[in-house]
Amino acid sequence: MPDHELVNLARHELVRIGLAKHKEILDGCVVRMPKAYPTYDPDYEAAMPTIRAALAQFKNVYPVGRNGMHKYNNQDHAMMTAKLSVENLCDGAHHDIWEVNVDRVYHEEVEK
Ligand SMILES: Cc1cc2nc3c(=O)[nH]c(=O)nc-3n(C[C@H](O)[C@H](O)[C@H](O)COP(=O)(O)OP(=O)(O)OC[C@H]3O[C@@H](n4cnc5c(N)ncnc54)[C@H](O)[C@@H]3O)c2cc1C
Repeated sequence: MPDHELVNLARHELVRIGLAKHKEILDGCVVRMPKAYPTYDPDYEAAMPTIRAALAQFKNVYPVGRNGMHKYNNQDHAMMTAKLSVENLCDGAHHDIWEVNVDRVYHEEVEK
């Protein structure tokens, strides 16, 4: 979508959810951020075990966080994977960081 259309979309959404009135929105700009979200394509789940097995061969590689694990973690879970990895690294713990956020009791819900 071109920048001006994105700004217009944001403008409409701000008004629609009641955060601002049209006349209060003076301008907007678009920042395109690569890898802002880990994208789950249809082959994602099948590919993950292969990638995890390949990474597991390296005893000094600790994939953590959102892009590090290619996982749609929120901030708390991303931080938890780092915290547990530090315990594995420094305290000889054996946490399985891939178990963080597997139950996914909540996620953003879409209201239609
Ligand atoms: C639009 C948006 C809204 C969000 N809203 C929420 C929310 O409301 N609540 C919530 O809990 N979470 C939210 N999140 C998710 C949250 O931002 C992430 O879960 C969290 O930031 C992931 O932390 P991280 O440390 O894994 O990665 P990041 O916070 O992305 O940190 C990675 C860091 O590594 C740096 N980096 C990358 N490559 C290199 C390199 N080669 N060399 C050196 N440094 C490098 C990056 O610059 C960055 O500073 C949102 C995310 C987005 C994109």
